[in-house]
Amino acid sequence: MNTEFISALPADIVLVAVTKNHTSDTIAEVARAGIGHIAENRVQEAKHKLEEVGKCGLTWHLIGHLQTNKVRAAVGIFDVIESVDSIRLMKVLNEEAARINKVQDILLQLNLTQEPQKTGFSEEDYREAVALLPEFANLRVCGLMVIAKDVDDPEQTRPVFRRAKEIFLQLQRMYPVEVLSMGMTNDYRVAIEEGSTEIRLGRALFGERDYSIKY
Ligand SMILES: *Cc1c(COP(=O)(O)O)cnc(C)c1O
Repeated sequence: MNTEFISALPADIVLVAVTKNHTSDTIAEVARAGIGHIAENRVQEAKHKLEEVGKCGLTWHLIGHLQTNKVRAAVGIFDVIESVDSIRLMKVLNEEAARINKVQDILLQLNLTQEPQKTGFSEEDYREAVALLPEFANLRVCGLMVIAKDVDDPEQTRPVFRRAKEIFLQLQRMYPVEVLSMGMTNDYRVAIEEGSTEIRLGRALFGERDYSIKY
């Protein structure tokens, strides 16, 4: 695990270690390195790892698209669900959280790049979702999550991050939100410059993912 660059990060940036497609041991390793957060993109994989190594005292984030039939498991596992991308999902999450008497921390995922293959709210649907938040007593919105386009020149991601920050500041006038989750291995420096509060790093910490690791 490469931790050399971590000390160069601004102290107020939350680092989330993306452990998808790595073994359960990696999660224990993250905990030993003093990083407080891990993220997984598949509920099944997270469940398997949780059974193997436990929570390791870490905050667990879900960053992949969540199907409504996996909501029960997800609410049982994750402290923060970052990939909330539809009103239907918000309803189901709220019901499940209410059932087990939990207030589920969530981020609303924005799709600002209009890539059809990508999940996340369009700006229009996002506004509708925000308007409905008061109806979901068992969801606590903590902020926004954004995935930029994967491009060779990270400079190209700047406008998307800048727009996300504007939307985040608007949301802050309505809710006490503190998390703007943007920035991955390729683009985290630009994301930080544009006001990210949380970066999600996989390859920068662990090198390339091992896609033969399947649970
Ligand atoms: C995989 C993933 C990451 C980490 O990507 P790296 O390029 O390995 O840093 C971050 N966020 C999301 C939503 C991901 O799916």
